[in-house]
Amino acid sequence: MLPGLPDVAELQLLFAQYNWMYFRGEIPAYRIAYNARFSNHAGRVSYKPPLIELSSKHLAGKQAELRETLLHEMIHAWLHARGENPGHTPAFKKKMRELGLTSIYHDLGTAKPLNESPKRYILRCEKCTMELLRKRKPAPNLVCARCRKPLTVFEVVEIRPIELGRAASRTPPAR
Ligand SMILES: [Zn+2]
Ligand SMILES: [Zn+2]
Repeated sequence: MLPGLPDVAELQLLFAQYNWMYFRGEIPAYRIAYNARFSNHAGRVSYKPPLIELSSKHLAGKQAELRETLLHEMIHAWLHARGENPGHTPAFKKKMRELGLTSIYHDLGTAKPLNESPKRYILRCEKCTMELLRKRKPAPNLVCARCRKPLTVFEVVEIRPIELGRAASRTPPAR
């Protein structure tokens, strides 16, 4: 694992812990993973299959931000599990305040949401990790142009943006 980051087993534990601490265990099982290829977002949640991804690049050495991003994505997952609108609704913001989270976006609300849309799909090749973004539900049985492997479809409803300039100018984590 990258320096300054908990390993995925620890992430999974954090998820379970927060689920009981803050959500009464109402969030179903999610896989928590790192994604090293996020260029401008800190986290993302997919409801089908249930997956929360955190940016290893942006969150290395930043414990508070990692916690905040995981909790942020968990609020989406929680609202979705309750059959509520999982977007940045008043219910979302109320829960944020309860958990002491200050902003929907990274860096205290100064960043504009990038490409925020109510629904999107991601097609991913698990072999070469190539990803395609789609607004509409893609046709079934698509294959990777490079590997000819079937693509996995993720219904991603929310992507958490990060402010590029400020994140990049921060001191890198100690090694
Ligand atoms: Zn591929
Ligand atoms: Zn969000």
